[in-house]
Amino acid sequence: MNRHHLPVRTCVGCREREQKSHLVRLVWAASKVALDRNQVAPGRGAYLHRRPECLELAIRRRAVGRALRVTGVNSDQVAQLLEPAVGADTSA
Ligand SMILES: [Zn+2]
Repeated sequence: MNRHHLPVRTCVGCREREQKSHLVRLVWAASKVALDRNQVAPGRGAYLHRRPECLELAIRRRAVGRALRVTGVNSDQVAQLLEPAVGADTSA
């Protein structure tokens, strides 16, 4: 198995590079941020660790909107969207 060929993305929270499969993908859909559970939705995606600290950093830096290249991202909406996903996988 060649690890160099695993797709890697940068977490918008901590800015660390990580295997795509270990991150949640966010997309902009219908003027709000949505979870792309299967990581296949078209358009730009923002990737984030399932960690409360990464979510907090991403919100504080407004990194989700920047990664998606959209304005009008609602921080509360993003936090609510991700709360169930964050912390679901504590092994990551
Ligand atoms: Zn992170």
